[in-house]
Amino acid sequence: MSLSTLSPAACSVVQPLLPVVGARTRVPLATGGEAVYANLDNAASAPALQTVADRVARVLPHYASVHRGAGYLSRTTTALFEQAREQVGAFVRARPDDVVVFTRSTTDALDLLSRAVPAGAEVLVADVEHHANLLPWQRSARTTVVRGGTDAEETTALLEAGLATGRYAVLAVAGASNVTGEVLPLRRLARAAHAAGARIAVDGAQLLPHRRVDVAADEIDWIALSGHKLYAPFGSGALVGRRDWLDAAEPYLAGGGATLDVSHDAVRWAQGPDRHEAGSPNVVGAVALAQACATLSALPAGALEAHETALRDRLVAGLTALDGVAVVRPHPGDAVGVVTFTVPGQEVSKVAAYLSAEHGIGVRDGRFCAHRFANSLGLVEGGLRASTGVGTGTADVDRLLAAVEQFLTSGPELEYGIVDGHWGPLHDLRPAPERFLDSTREPG
Ligand code: PLP
Repeated sequence: MSLSTLSPAACSVVQPLLPVVGARTRVPLATGGEAVYANLDNAASAPALQTVADRVARVLPHYASVHRGAGYLSRTTTALFEQAREQVGAFVRARPDDVVVFTRSTTDALDLLSRAVPAGAEVLVADVEHHANLLPWQRSARTTVVRGGTDAEETTALLEAGLATGRYAVLAVAGASNVTGEVLPLRRLARAAHAAGARIAVDGAQLLPHRRVDVAADEIDWIALSGHKLYAPFGSGALVGRRDWLDAAEPYLAGGGATLDVSHDAVRWAQGPDRHEAGSPNVVGAVALAQACATLSALPAGALEAHETALRDRLVAGLTALDGVAVVRPHPGDAVGVVTFTVPGQEVSKVAAYLSAEHGIGVRDGRFCAHRFANSLGLVEGGLRASTGVGTGTADVDRLLAAVEQFLTSGPELEYGIVDGHWGPLHDLRPAPERFLDSTREPG
């Protein structure tokens, strides 16, 4: 593949947009030697922003008990936690009366919301969803799963048609697909939902790392997000949105912090976020998430989109130009930096193992926790997914393209087979992953 075959947009050289921790971490190669890790698996979990790591280091010496303590640092910690709540709400431009519930992740947030849907209410969801936005609804509510279309426009039209029946109380939809990167028109869907008397719950896990969302202006009722996909991998996520159903629902967890009063024969539960945050909250995770939100918010308008569009275009154009590679829905309209492809005739797990073992490149392979969608795209045996983030530059994309091209033209240098239940090189010079940290020096 030569760069002269790429479009002008795909030819532009792009540097990482923001510093991330570990950008220069070197990993061992199975062939001997080492390479700087090329992280093209941001859609699964993104590295920490440097600002996030700095904030966590700054906060830790001031960390103490939250909510209950009278000590000065307890009060400081409580203030940090509540400020984090406001910052996360501001990041998605929540309405003043919206609630921000801290959760462990998007999965946790959507599970909570699915349990708050009033009894008998019906939910509409398309089969293009990640399991996190499919299975909780199927378990907790009366849910109709419709087949998605051949692109985001068709899926939107199918959802609109479903809503128009007037049967549904909730439309649950992802802002961006974790398989194709396709972005759905949220404002349009929110309006269709409201016109039909329904509410809209958005899985923001893949959208929010790439796009600014305006919950109030887009008329979104709830949005769920994950810190580890937003460059804050400290175990926190959030559900943001309307409080009425959440205040009326059973507390998500029963325990301390969620109650106003507990007597011998009765419990008075709190309302607002406390109701669903029983137990000691993950203050450091919340602070980290809020810092990531603040850092992304401070980027100039359009910077995120321009950065990732250039990288995505280069990825799609470069992969498409390779004979022997099939890109899944290469021209989907608006899309985030998530590109899925296959090398027909080759096991995806073998290709992923080769990219890691011989080139130090991290991608995801499989059906990406979206089995129904993957199957309908013909990825029954799985696909390879390359995903970019603010720490990605053209050099990472080019390394992937060159490595795939080498695979196709000369084949892998090593022999591969199933080792310990996974595809891998049969002779591997790398230390076992569990010994890697101890065998290496601090990254420079
Ligand atoms: N929704 C989408 C679209 C995702 O891609 C993912 C994770 O890959 C999730 C939800 C679940 O996120 P988490 O694992 O942080 O709960």
